[in-house]
Amino acid sequence: MSYTKEQIANLVDGKLDWETTFRMLSMPKDQGRFAKYLAALQARVNYADKIVLPLSLHMNIVQRAGDKRWVIKCDCGHEFCDHNENWKLHAAIYVRDTEEAMTDVYPKLMAPDTQWQVYREYYCPKCGTMHDVEAPTPWYPVIHDFEPDIEAFYRDWVNLPVPERA
Ligand SMILES: [Zn+2]
Repeated sequence: MSYTKEQIANLVDGKLDWETTFRMLSMPKDQGRFAKYLAALQARVNYADKIVLPLSLHMNIVQRAGDKRWVIKCDCGHEFCDHNENWKLHAAIYVRDTEEAMTDVYPKLMAPDTQWQVYREYYCPKCGTMHDVEAPTPWYPVIHDFEPDIEAFYRDWVNLPVPERA
């Protein structure tokens, strides 16, 4: 089974659910497909660093051009942190913890009780793109997203050499 240019474009646009994305990228082992996906992502950014793995729609783990460190980068070029750090702690955070702030997001009576649930939005401090939203209880610590096992992904799923890392 092969995928059309349009399907690859949808994938890059984030129009496919994660299950379809994962299936497209990993089954069967196909070096070409993941390489094409990375190339399409790379074509959309202006920085020279090589994309290693997309983390969300406008955020990637990249191999920094100069020293080959793996860092987390916004599409605008803003660098958040090292790839194994929690980028959310380096983001601009907006917390909706009042009824007024919640009604921007929810219809009035549907809004959660802010004693029990708040809304945390994580933005790029440079370009303002929203990269993630959490709806935790107010006392819940900032959630660290999954740390992808990049070596295993390259080796076992897409059968490509792992990019160099400093
Ligand atoms: Zn940005």
